[in-house]
Amino acid sequence: MTLQVRHLSKHYGSTPVFSNVSLDVAPGEFVAIVGESGAGKSTLLNCMAGLDTWDSGSVHLGGTDLGTLTNDQCALLRRKQVGFVFQAFHVLPHLDVFQNVALPFLLLGREDPDRVNALLHAVGLGDLGARLPQQLSGGQLQRVAIARALINDPVLIMGDEPTGNLDKKNTDVVFNIFQRLSKEFNQTMLIVTHDQEFAKKTHRIIEMEDGKIIK
Ligand code: ADP
Repeated sequence: MTLQVRHLSKHYGSTPVFSNVSLDVAPGEFVAIVGESGAGKSTLLNCMAGLDTWDSGSVHLGGTDLGTLTNDQCALLRRKQVGFVFQAFHVLPHLDVFQNVALPFLLLGREDPDRVNALLHAVGLGDLGARLPQQLSGGQLQRVAIARALINDPVLIMGDEPTGNLDKKNTDVVFNIFQRLSKEFNQTMLIVTHDQEFAKKTHRIIEMEDGKIIK
């Protein structure tokens, strides 16, 4: 199992954000988490990526119990095993497109320009490696973020509303990239989205309401 969550609960003060959440994502699965705003989706996703802490329960990622790791160990595991795509792109403005994609690689002390270029081609940005982020559209920025998420060959891609800042046309472009990753590369992916059209095209939908999985 790529991801295994058991009886996970988290509160802010006396307010539960989510409670008793259990779910699995198997290798090669493409799963959407949907639900109303405030249902707890983003917080849950952050916990599953080891970006946030929880009160009780467990998260196993690629067989490792995240709850047993120090912050540094967790950061290293995430760097190696998870590719995260955020709604707000989070590309670094002073690095060009090539450098942004290569960044997680550099952080692990690796260098492979051919791989960076291959990924840029795969997301349709083959000619734009030297551009700065400010010279790109939102859809192009998200494709940079997807290439960056893939650079370390992660066991799991996680996305938090990856099409949330995009218009319909760019949403389709980005979704088609996710679909190709699933079909052609059997990439395991877990995506939070409120876009029903997007969710319907994944393998499986997990529905959250008020901090619980209802379906
Ligand atoms: P979703 O992604 O489904 O919109 P979130 O995970 O962002 O939901 O938020 C779930 C609930 O937790 C919301 O009610 C939100 O207000 C609350 N929440 C999120 N972050 C914090 C925080 N840092 N402190 C207090 N409450 C928070």
